[in-house]
Amino acid sequence: MKINEQITTVWQAVNGCNKLPLTVAEQRFYAALETALNQHASDARQEAAALGCLSAEHKVSGSIEMEPRELRKFLRQLVEQWNNRPLSEAEFILFGRLAEALTAFGDEVRLGHPATERRCMICNVPVSRCCC
Ligand SMILES: [Zn+2]
Repeated sequence: MKINEQITTVWQAVNGCNKLPLTVAEQRFYAALETALNQHASDARQEAAALGCLSAEHKVSGSIEMEPRELRKFLRQLVEQWNNRPLSEAEFILFGRLAEALTAFGDEVRLGHPATERRCMICNVPVSRCCC
């Protein structure tokens, strides 16, 4: 999935989750997004520090709260920023994690329960059968 499509799908999933209460699959999806974003904050801090870039460090300090409204705002900023410049390594890793969370969410909705196995992000088969 291309990054622009991916972020759009995440965005749609988050908007779709605006109703209350969240289903179990949606709760799990939100938790995965929260983990990915908090890991990204940490990665981005390290990346910025390695580059000696203090201003970037300030932007990503602290953990990210997962109020749906704040998440949508955060994703909107990401889309706008990433449309205009290449991804850093930390951002590239974040997109991988978002893709993984999206796949797991889609599988859970389709199956009615969490998939027993993660799928390969390249060939899309369960990891035990992946030959990549
Ligand atoms: Zn594979």
